[in-house]
Amino acid sequence: MPVNPIPDVPWRQRLFVWQRADNRNHAIRKADYPLPPRPGEDVDVLCGRTITLAVEDFPALTEVPGGSHPTCWECEAEWRKAEGIPIDRNHPTRRNT
Ligand SMILES: [Zn+2]
Repeated sequence: MPVNPIPDVPWRQRLFVWQRADNRNHAIRKADYPLPPRPGEDVDVLCGRTITLAVEDFPALTEVPGGSHPTCWECEAEWRKAEGIPIDRNHPTRRNT
């Protein structure tokens, strides 16, 4: 029987949440942002950048359909490390190494 590598952690206990910023889905620490960030706010994302959120990063606040944004794989890799989820050799951050 295959083992699911993703720990079964309830959402409330997760360390991070995804936030759309600069045309990607980045991860932010819930401890740093106990309330959801707002347009105009600077957020520190897991991949090390600080991004100022735009109103376009909040589809619910605009009349323009949001569409899907690509995952920031550097954030995803940091999330995995923090939660002890293995990063296999096919992970996008490892493809060219
Ligand atoms: Zn990122």
